[in-house]
Amino acid sequence: MPFERASCSVLTHGLNYGTSVFEGIRAYETRLDEKSIFRNRDHMERFIRSAKMLRMNMRYDTSELEEAVKQVVLANRESGDFYIRPIAYVGFGGISLDYTNYPVDVAIGALSFSSYFDPSKKGLRACISSWRRVSQDSGLPLAKAGGNYLNSSLAKVEASTNGYDEAIFLDQQGYVSEGTGENVFAVYRGEILTPPVHQSILEGITRDTVSAIATRMGYRVREKPVTRGELYRCDELFFSGTAAGVAPVVELDGRVIGTGEEGSVTRSLREEYEAVVRGKRSYAENWLTRVSYPK
Ligand code: PMP
Repeated sequence: MPFERASCSVLTHGLNYGTSVFEGIRAYETRLDEKSIFRNRDHMERFIRSAKMLRMNMRYDTSELEEAVKQVVLANRESGDFYIRPIAYVGFGGISLDYTNYPVDVAIGALSFSSYFDPSKKGLRACISSWRRVSQDSGLPLAKAGGNYLNSSLAKVEASTNGYDEAIFLDQQGYVSEGTGENVFAVYRGEILTPPVHQSILEGITRDTVSAIATRMGYRVREKPVTRGELYRCDELFFSGTAAGVAPVVELDGRVIGTGEEGSVTRSLREEYEAVVRGKRSYAENWLTRVSYPK
């Protein structure tokens, strides 16, 4: 349906209490009259897992959701890349916090999209947030749930107010967790480090893609608890995420990272990632769902 008509009640439970789960997927313009959805199945599987964690009754299975994403791409013929936002939210049923008997509505929207961070910036300036990442004692950081993003927004607004491009969260124990909408990687002495899933991160699909690409390229990738100091002293630092792609961080809390410019490991991973999502690597073809517009 047209964007303007896709509306819901102001008393929607998900709007009032953050009871929603969502995804962010990208469809890249890989040829004239063709877009390629990147890792559609993996996103839809995570979507369903998020709903399950919140005991939200998702009425569609992975294949139906994957097909719906394809249909949304097909229904929009604008040129360029898309950002696709599937959301399942608790609809209007009343004001009780026990939403398990309320309806769950699903919508999928698409936006034209080029880049998340200012493309004129060759490297990002980040800070460690004064906010801790929503913890596993008080929530479900592993679920991509609407309510978790209040925590992200607090950190993002704080970072922007203080003149930074992005914030990095620590978890409740003080270990590095993730960005407000990205996972974090540090390169130290040739090794690529990233926090494990139990450190209040979202299990990023780009994180998985980057790890796979890096391993294939011969780098050693290791999941391990990372401290704030390890970020300050690392050689290279970067974010990974569907919206952000692979994005170098060149300054953290006023400390220059590496040379102050994108490092060589980050550059090689970023370029390979871009080649993969743009359909230029045959080894990664099964991550792509190519959708052709009829002539
Ligand atoms: N962490 C958070 C909090 C996010 O919102 C995202 C974006 N979905 C990520 C990490 C990266 O996940 P992905 O690579 O699947 O986009």
